Amino acid sequence: MQSKSEFLHDKLKTFFGFSSFKGQQEEIIMHLMENKDAFVLMPTGGGKSLCYQLPALIMDGTAVIISPLIALMKNQVDAIRGFIYEKEGVAHFLNSSLTKSQIHEVKEDLISGRTKLLYVAPESLTKEENIYLLKQIKISFYAVDEAHCISEWGHDFRPEYRRIQPIISQIGKAPVIALTATATPKVQSDIQKNLGMTNARVFKSSFNRENLYYEIRSKSNVDREIIRFIKNNEGKSGIIYCLSRKKVEDVAELLNVNGIKALPYHAGLDASTRSSNQDSFLMEETDVIVATIAFGMGIDKPDVRFVLHYDIPKSLEGYYQETGRAGRDGGEGQCIAFYSYKDIQKLEKFMQGKLISEQEIGKQLLLETVAYAESNLCRRKVLLNYFGEEYHQDNCGACDNCLYPKKQFEGSEDIALLLELISGMKENFKAEHIANILSGVDNSIIKSYNHHHHELFGTGKEKGVKFWLAVIRQALILHLLDKDIERYGLLSCTDKGKEFLEKPYSVMLTQDREFEEVEDDEEAQIASAGKAGGGGGDQVLLTMLKDLRHSMSKRLKLPPFVIFHDPSLEDMSIQYPVTLDELKNCQGVGEGKAKKFGKEFVELIARYVAENEIERPLDLVVKSVVNKSVNKVYIITSIDRKLSFEDIAEAKDMEMSELLDEVESIVNSGTKLNIDYYIKQTVDDDKVDDIYEYFKTETDTDSLKVAVDELGRGYTEEEIRLVRIKFMSEIGN
Ligand code: ADP
Ligand code: MG
Repeated sequence: MQSKSEFLHDKLKTFFGFSSFKGQQEEIIMHLMENKDAFVLMPTGGGKSLCYQLPALIMDGTAVIISPLIALMKNQVDAIRGFIYEKEGVAHFLNSSLTKSQIHEVKEDLISGRTKLLYVAPESLTKEENIYLLKQIKISFYAVDEAHCISEWGHDFRPEYRRIQPIISQIGKAPVIALTATATPKVQSDIQKNLGMTNARVFKSSFNRENLYYEIRSKSNVDREIIRFIKNNEGKSGIIYCLSRKKVEDVAELLNVNGIKALPYHAGLDASTRSSNQDSFLMEETDVIVATIAFGMGIDKPDVRFVLHYDIPKSLEGYYQETGRAGRDGGEGQCIAFYSYKDIQKLEKFMQGKLISEQEIGKQLLLETVAYAESNLCRRKVLLNYFGEEYHQDNCGACDNCLYPKKQFEGSEDIALLLELISGMKENFKAEHIANILSGVDNSIIKSYNHHHHELFGTGKEKGVKFWLAVIRQALILHLLDKDIERYGLLSCTDKGKEFLEKPYSVMLTQDREFEEVEDDEEAQIASAGKAGGGGGDQVLLTMLKDLRHSMSKRLKLPPFVIFHDPSLEDMSIQYPVTLDELKNCQGVGEGKAKKFGKEFVELIARYVAENEIERPLDLVVKSVVNKSVNKVYIITSIDRKLSFEDIAEAKDMEMSELLDEVESIVNSGTKLNIDYYIKQTVDDDKVDDIYEYFKTETDTDSLKVAVDELGRGYTEEEIRLVRIKFMSEIGN
């Protein structure tokens, strides 16, 4: 006789043409066929659908599949029908898109018992007439797909999902299988409680997607970096996620202008455009789809090779889901997200006006995202830890932090201090509160607990809040601390933590990464002059460019920063300019600088490009460095007219230091300004000479802080800045 397993394999082959089950599919199906509830946690692409599709085809009666998206339903039904061509009536869907006569057909097939799978949207399930209809037929089981929609802590909460359980019990009892790819412990427990299936067997697969590469980049020059990335991955399929519809449109257009086949996808487009764009992507007529998160649920394109996040997502679940759409076939999947703290602040602003409870949740989810982005730990480890899963390897070999590890430091004492504080408190507090105590921040909440008088208040002041948050995160991962998810993330010391306090041992920690703050792309080109860039360029070329700058600096007896700033060199390593005209498109390179210093650089790049057969992002649209900002234009013309800086500042309602910022950025981006008239009025001639000489011969950096330290007391910061502007303008531009 055929064993049960043989029987299932047989059916798997007949219906779907697969010869083996993936992961725990077989166990899950057997369990369900014994009429028992199952809760399936499986990452995207793991093969959840089959867990209900196959038993639905085998078992007596009709399986009711509750699924959130109308558009998706048709796809799923089509797919099933594609597998099982001999029987038309086998799969149906019920949702608001059907016409009267279509509904009639569905009903007939249901009553006659031909329908094995019925897909229903939750809002259709709640309709009286449908409940009445379903009461008349035999239900084999209920499947709740995308079950995280039940939880407010999931990334896609849908209130209708909360009503599933009462309706199911109204229609009639049958086993329930709930499926989701979101597995934070909080979401898990919400789902089980809400569906009344706390005793269900939980099938949890590993959420590790070994073939995915994770990277977070600083969000400066994001347009260029994306274009460059896509050009280096020509012909591959990819998705770019943006948060707003407008951004989606803009980025899609930008890509097209740059010769990349891309189409937009968002809920604001009409249905036919949406579906034709989606089809075009699935059929590989389009390489890249630029989308809001409306795109992708249930999209089963196995060979998506990259997922880029133009904006950081609102939650780690969202991030995991979206990146999960890369490499479903087990092949390459590059996941790169662009991060700036400014975006987080924007997202927080969007939450204003929502219910306080929703805001709390939203903020908490955002904090986790920030922590992930800024962490220097293995991305895989952090991500899996977030899903309650342990990752034991030290180096995953497929994330930016593992490939380019950051320096570690001995953190035993810091951990001890942290644990001492937490274990000594009568109540539990959140991470921010603890970090504030250690850093000596006496805000109103701290005061309300009288914690500004705590003996450990300010003991780690010099290290700062960010540092302590990073230590807390690592203590959580090491299980020295525990976080109560039910109660907004209150921290407590674990047994392991207490053991540590008794007998401390060596713990190596890493500091968080520093991300530069940028306004948006345009601003970034100007503002980041002088700061470290976000990388992403051609590192080999960058080193060569730096070497060239170094030798020129020796030869011309000029400090290197006068020739080109780091961000300019980085930009060259992204854009590969080979003519002086092209060079002017790089950030911080004006006409003057290009003429004065550019020749050798473009020659070097041209040689490099030829030798390495590099395809340059030729038609890359680069916004002009000369900013449209009205202020800048006003400042330049006012200086030409020799207005005093005080007057300029007053006219534009700026602080003097803000004005100097602007002037510096103008000069740093290559525009010559003559401010001698103002310097003469305000700075001693001798001092001017000293400062000028200092920048010319005594320093290798244009850092203001270093200059203030090294020049010593006799010079104010403002004087140094003014002369530095003069210097940069005369020598550099
Ligand atoms: P999920 O819903 O978990 O994200 P899907 O159910 O959409 O994943 O399945 C992902 C892919 O895996 C689909 O292309 C599906 O056909 C395929 N698949 C599922 N089960 C098997 C199996 N046993 N053998 C081979 N491929 C499978
Ligand atoms: Mg699915």
